[in-house]
Amino acid sequence: MRHPSLRSRALLLCALALPALSAPPTHAAPPVPDKLIVLTFDDSSASHSTVARPVLKRYGFGATFFITEGFTFAKNKTDYLTWPQIAELHRDGFEIGNHTRDHLSITEKTVPRLAEQLAVIADRCREHGIPPPVSFAWPGNKFHVAALPVLHQAGIRFARRGGEPEVPYAIGGGVAYEPGLDHALLIPTAGDARPSWSLENLQRAVALARGGRIAVLQFHGVPDGEHPWVNTPRERFEEYMAWLHAEKFTVIAMRDLARYVDENAVPANPLAIMERRKSAQPAPTAIPPPPAPAPAARPSAP
Ligand SMILES: [Zn+2]
Repeated sequence: MRHPSLRSRALLLCALALPALSAPPTHAAPPVPDKLIVLTFDDSSASHSTVARPVLKRYGFGATFFITEGFTFAKNKTDYLTWPQIAELHRDGFEIGNHTRDHLSITEKTVPRLAEQLAVIADRCREHGIPPPVSFAWPGNKFHVAALPVLHQAGIRFARRGGEPEVPYAIGGGVAYEPGLDHALLIPTAGDARPSWSLENLQRAVALARGGRIAVLQFHGVPDGEHPWVNTPRERFEEYMAWLHAEKFTVIAMRDLARYVDENAVPANPLAIMERRKSAQPAPTAIPPPPAPAPAARPSAP
């Protein structure tokens, strides 16, 4: 739920020496249709089985559930899924993705621990009749390019980050995934659901899904007892899904991106597109406009 510090980001940029961005891929996959949405759920919340599952099944939506045994997963079965529930989600046709055993925050320092963290979740999946995950969500949305070869080695084809660095975390917004410009292991979130969200926030996020771009939505618990800052109340979640269905969005799991995207066509510098988007946006700290005249006539803020 947090992002690389400015310092670590600067280190990454130095390490990459900024080669030119490669051209978008040309491959045999069908073109990306408008209104294509990837639905993702993080942190093994029990509500993914009790609330999300029946709603998604009702509408025939695909989704990826990113599983970690971090937080109080081992003992707190009020708030967290059991492995039999995770296996049931798999049997229903949903995707089970990897979110590391301990919800490991990925930094240059922790990258050496990543392979084992991924392997534990993959092993648990095998034990419960679930194929080893091919999708990954960066825990806390914190990413580091040094981890990309480790993910690739572990058989991960698609990985989701947050809306940062392009959009500040607090807003819960993001940007659309642009295949070939975004690295398939650094797919941005278009909308990161928050308790303050209304249907309008969701609509803004999915409106980005056009012109070859794909909108990836990030949910936590629906509701989420242990992570209130990313809670989505049940009624809101049901409202969002009903609207997506009524508006005829195509809602898929992350692994299903393989139908439309060549994950091997990656930019030479995976951070370049983020920097390009950031420099194209007005800085949030831009100098404010001059004050309006006649301040005495204006009411003061509460
Ligand atoms: Zn998480």
